[in-house]
Amino acid sequence: LLMSNIMDDYAKSQNKIHQTNAKTIKGLNNKIENATNFIGKLESQLNAAKETSLTDELTTVGNRKGYVQAINKARNTWLTSQKPLALVLIDVDRFKSINDNFGHSIGDQVLKSLGKTLKSNIRSSDYIARYGGEEFVIILPETDLNKTIQITKKIRKVVNSLKFELRKKNKTLKITCSYGISNFTDKISNTTDVFNAADEALYQSKENGRNQVTLA
Ligand code: GH3
Ligand code: MG
Ligand code: MG
Repeated sequence: LLMSNIMDDYAKSQNKIHQTNAKTIKGLNNKIENATNFIGKLESQLNAAKETSLTDELTTVGNRKGYVQAINKARNTWLTSQKPLALVLIDVDRFKSINDNFGHSIGDQVLKSLGKTLKSNIRSSDYIARYGGEEFVIILPETDLNKTIQITKKIRKVVNSLKFELRKKNKTLKITCSYGISNFTDKISNTTDVFNAADEALYQSKENGRNQVTLA
């Protein structure tokens, strides 16, 4: 009898320990699940914040920071693949006079619309950013100079066909841009030099009367 009592007590205490353990495990599992969910939320928030930090608020194309990241990545690919890599700089002609004549908010609308137009006229593998005020830059991976000229001329045509209806003033506003093209070569192979070459070509477009495409 004594033996059986001892066995009974032992079984009971074991059972209790088991129950307590099961509760603890369940609690821990809950905590793990909550933590996992929380990490998932943080991850998506972090990704969204990263995306926002690389995006131009006004036009929703990339911003300067996004451009720097994208061009470094594209250059790395260019280094290993040796497939052509081109750059197009775009600057709105006489944009200051648009602001002066129609107001800053119309100017903003023009930039917004231009960003959308540019974006919809490049491939998804290309990259576009607003580099500065009324300046955009397009990265064209795996695109040779002839193709880049062809694409840029098409963009010029589309931009020149844009019409902004200003109902208040009962007027139609049109814009033109100047374009500068450069590409990565053995001689000009760092991002700053290629950018500067496109910038010089863009300056030539301005000098030669604007609304034109110039190759570096
Ligand atoms: P050019 O043909 O030589 O490029 O002449 P421009 O007037 O376009 O060039 P300039 O650099 O003299 O003027 C650029 C103007 O762009 C001045 C600035 O107020 C305006 N700008 C820059 N960023 C913004 C913006 O985000 N919104 C608006 N509305 N205007 C902007
Ligand atoms: Mg400018
Ligand atoms: Mg300008």
